[in-house]
Amino acid sequence: MYIVEEFPRLFSIETSGKSLKTPFFVPAISSIKADWEIFGYVDLIEKVGYPGFLISAYDIFKLEKKEKKILMKVLSNYTDKRVFVFLDNGNYEAYWYKNNTWSLNKLKTVLARVYPDFCFSFDIFWDGDRSVKKHVKETITSIAKTAGMQKTGSTIALIHSNPELFPKVTRKIVDYINPEIVAIPERELGFSVFQKSQTVKKIRDELDRTKKPIPIHILGTGNPISILIFTLCGADMYDALDWSNAFVDPKTGQLFHFSQKDLVDCQCKVCKMKKVPYNYQVLAHNLIFYVEFLDKIRDSIRNEEIDVVLNEYLREEDVSKIKRVIGSK
Ligand SMILES: [Zn+2]
Repeated sequence: MYIVEEFPRLFSIETSGKSLKTPFFVPAISSIKADWEIFGYVDLIEKVGYPGFLISAYDIFKLEKKEKKILMKVLSNYTDKRVFVFLDNGNYEAYWYKNNTWSLNKLKTVLARVYPDFCFSFDIFWDGDRSVKKHVKETITSIAKTAGMQKTGSTIALIHSNPELFPKVTRKIVDYINPEIVAIPERELGFSVFQKSQTVKKIRDELDRTKKPIPIHILGTGNPISILIFTLCGADMYDALDWSNAFVDPKTGQLFHFSQKDLVDCQCKVCKMKKVPYNYQVLAHNLIFYVEFLDKIRDSIRNEEIDVVLNEYLREEDVSKIKRVIGSK
């Protein structure tokens, strides 16, 4: 994998003949709160031509034998296509299904048959009673184990901590194991979007001190306004389920309820289509929005016009707050 920072806050990531530009949003597919089978989502993402998606090792593990075979075939085709396959380690689904038996060994059986471009390392959850040293050590071991099980692709170092300790914990892990990309759960960054953005900025400053181009992936962020703010504060990649359970208003970037598409006047090419099933239309509309929105953020950074995009989506006083976090005037 080849990562280069083409412009401050804009990375280019190349691997196996594929390339992506940050900020990048990865639509997550999960059996949790899902309307369709996994195949329905994968098929839709392919039809829209979206350049990547995230799928859960837990969901793959739980498929019937026949379905598993079909999915393996579909996924192996992506090796040749320009679509990035991200594999989640499965703990999210195991948590929601209250399954205590999900383990690194079960992830291993999935990794023996699936060839993702990226896999998130197995979680070592933050435990306030444990020392930072022990947490860092266990996290490094888990990253190394996940990497050892992957036949293809890169391991994204998944790091848990709390807002105060994230910069320190992340830096220690990076210094020990030198990951290409680090991942951090949004919910552990703080309560409000401003607190979260400050934590992101501190982690970014710490990573920049290593002088290595290390993108930050935020787990569970799909809200467009949060993507905009976190990107300017130092994050680069995001994944979430929001795209599959909400309707994004392209004018404001705000998320409406999944059922409220008709309350928003959208003239995008998907919304103008007639006789398209409702759920297909909502999801395709959302994906097209993300492509255009991320392009807009990239252009505004490259042209040094972040004020324009900030003022389009945020109130004046909030723009000032964000700019204080970034350290720009
Ligand atoms: Zn639309």
